[in-house]
Amino acid sequence: MTMIETVRGPVPEESLGRVLAHEHIFVLSPEIQANYPEEWGEEETRVAQAADRLNELKASGIDTIIDPTAIGLGRYVPRISEVAARTELNIVVATGLYTFNELPHYYRGRRPPREGGAVDILTTHFVQDIAEGVSGTATGDGRKVKAGVIKCATDQPGLTPDVERTLRACAQAHRQTGCPITTHTHARSERGLDQQRVFTEEGVDLSRVVIGHCGDTDDLDYLSKILEQGSYLGMDRFGIDGYLTTEQRVGVIAELCRRGFESQLVLSHDASCYIDWIAGELPLGPLPNWHYLHISNDVIPALLGAGVSPEQVDVMLVDNPRRYLASAGKGGY
Ligand SMILES: [Zn+2]
Repeated sequence: MTMIETVRGPVPEESLGRVLAHEHIFVLSPEIQANYPEEWGEEETRVAQAADRLNELKASGIDTIIDPTAIGLGRYVPRISEVAARTELNIVVATGLYTFNELPHYYRGRRPPREGGAVDILTTHFVQDIAEGVSGTATGDGRKVKAGVIKCATDQPGLTPDVERTLRACAQAHRQTGCPITTHTHARSERGLDQQRVFTEEGVDLSRVVIGHCGDTDDLDYLSKILEQGSYLGMDRFGIDGYLTTEQRVGVIAELCRRGFESQLVLSHDASCYIDWIAGELPLGPLPNWHYLHISNDVIPALLGAGVSPEQVDVMLVDNPRRYLASAGKGGY
């Protein structure tokens, strides 16, 4: 039995239950919030609202979320601890870094020399979050909250020098610790294949990687190429109808299950309780289904209606995320 790191401390892998593999709680712009906090309002109100949303999610039959809010998305784990103390839902938090183009100047000014095998400070920070725990946090038994996944992103701009550096640093932290990797991609420009190539060059076992946002495309040739290399597909943006509607997303999953790939699919919404990138509160008018309950209420019935079996739903929601998170227990390699 492997213990899985959550915000309230390690839990046995079998207690993860049904897992949404990519949900944020807060996505924030810290420097804006520090200077212009009016919209955020009362801290207690925001924390209480988030706990309410997560308790609704737990009541809908989901037991765990993976929150891949890395540096660049306003990560602040002490606030997540406040929320976690008010819900039975398990929350697995991330280390890593989210950028489409450049790194923050802090890291740009600390670029490792080309030669000599110096460890990138990005890797040092990621490993610290995984091995020692995240600064400023404490679980119930007084230990720090440890990151359970490593997050990185590759969007339309592709492998810019800083994005490639980030991917390699994530891969190196993964190799040291065994902590699994989860990603953001721009699916239509096939960025998942770029990520797999860099990870392979770094010696990563691709079966310990979720290539995120694969659910944003119905290009089965692209998805098959990622699957053939062993990674999980993140079918993880249910409710973001601008890329694909729920009906289209369900259709792709049903077809992949028909082809026998259910053991490589994970489900989620990429939703949040509060995201300051968007004016107003979720769910938004144009995206009425972009909230935590869409999968429980609408997507699971739609999958069953499209010919996916209840066993296949459990494989995607229970078995796959459990195997993925428990792979951290195998350690580095
Ligand atoms: Zn996300």
